[in-house]
Amino acid sequence: MTHEFDVLILGAGAAGLMCAVEAGKRGLRVAIIERAKRAGKKILISGGGRCNFTNIYCRPDNFISANPHFAKSALARYTPSDFIALVEKHRIPYHEKTLGQLFCDRSASDITGMLESECRVAGVKMFLNSRIREVQRAAEFKVHTETAEFRAPALVIATGGLSIPKMGATAFGYDLARQFGLKIRETRPALAPLVLASKEGSQYCDLTGLSAEVIASADYHSFREKMLITHRGLSGPAILQISSYWNKGEQIQIDLAPDRDVGAPMRDATVRNMAAARSAFQRFLPKRFAARWLDLHAPQDWTNQSLAELERKAHEWTLTPANTEGYEKAEVTAGGVDTDELSSKTMESRRVPGLFFIGEVVDVTGHLGGHNFQWAWASGAAAGRAL
Ligand SMILES: Cc1cc2nc3c(=O)[nH]c(=O)nc-3n(C[C@H](O)[C@H](O)[C@H](O)COP(=O)(O)OP(=O)(O)OC[C@H]3O[C@@H](n4cnc5c(N)ncnc54)[C@H](O)[C@@H]3O)c2cc1C
Repeated sequence: MTHEFDVLILGAGAAGLMCAVEAGKRGLRVAIIERAKRAGKKILISGGGRCNFTNIYCRPDNFISANPHFAKSALARYTPSDFIALVEKHRIPYHEKTLGQLFCDRSASDITGMLESECRVAGVKMFLNSRIREVQRAAEFKVHTETAEFRAPALVIATGGLSIPKMGATAFGYDLARQFGLKIRETRPALAPLVLASKEGSQYCDLTGLSAEVIASADYHSFREKMLITHRGLSGPAILQISSYWNKGEQIQIDLAPDRDVGAPMRDATVRNMAAARSAFQRFLPKRFAARWLDLHAPQDWTNQSLAELERKAHEWTLTPANTEGYEKAEVTAGGVDTDELSSKTMESRRVPGLFFIGEVVDVTGHLGGHNFQWAWASGAAAGRAL
């Protein structure tokens, strides 16, 4: 069976659904072809099931890309306010959690329901459970699935990245880009927990579950948020954020006592000893972590000089992680289709007219906190309005 459309969108995730809505509203005949049994599976598990759907402070600085200017145009033309207006039109209750992060009050299914309903109104046809066997380009693009052939003059790739393979993530988008001769920036897991090297792992990982507010830094980027000890290493928002900037073999720095003069109570104390140090560190770190960290960084003596050195180490705890926890645990994939290959206004390939790439498959990776969905909405809308 052959289906003729104006636009074929591969992938019914955040970017594909938004693109379909925008293109369908303009009267185009749009089909989405999706491998999974339902649309928006990643949206459903996002934000702990409540979907952190945008961030009111989203700026181009919140994105990592070989070309830091690439995302600016799309982000400026579809802003958090635009998405919030859509959420409010559908009367979806939401709240700000912290740092401008907006979450659904009820469930992430409010967002998938909203996008599916917008697709229906825009006349978008959804083909779920469809395995793509081959994509060809002659006068038009032809997509062969196991049961049908689809044809259209425009093809949008919205198949996402490699994170969470057990949810069906595939390298399809990157392979297809290569098939058409487009360059790929090397991919790597981002927003991922870090695995400690075996020595440090054995020193700290039994403290799994303990957390503290820290400033974590890697490659000249710092984030002040929570750090969590896990059974394999470190996680929590501060660590997830720096994992996107960290490369294997490099060090990370952790300020365990942001803005604090840790040594002050000890310098002024009549007795300077380990008990006094523990009580000072327990003011800002969980008891067991404070005790462990101090045992492993015990000063030789309690002179002012040694206290200053202890203070320095507390603000600059330096570690060399063994690895990230990989795509199994990464929220996103950094790298992807090289932005030099695409128009920043439309997301269309410069080499292959009619071929578009949107969302996570492109070399644009957001910080934690709703920025990745904002990129999916913005890049999807940019393509949907240009088709
Ligand atoms: C656990 C978790 C929580 C997250 N929470 C948040 C959050 O709260 N806020 C935030 O901003 N970001 C969050 N993210 C990141 C966010 O989910 C992604 O950045 C976003 O979904 C990317 O959108 P996309 O449309 O590009 O890709 P996806 O949403 O991954 O969609 C790609 C679609 O393509 C389909 N597909 C793949 N291969 C094929 C193929 N060969 N043929 C047909 N279809 C195919 C997939 O099944 C999928 O439906 C989270 C990610 C994870 C893993």
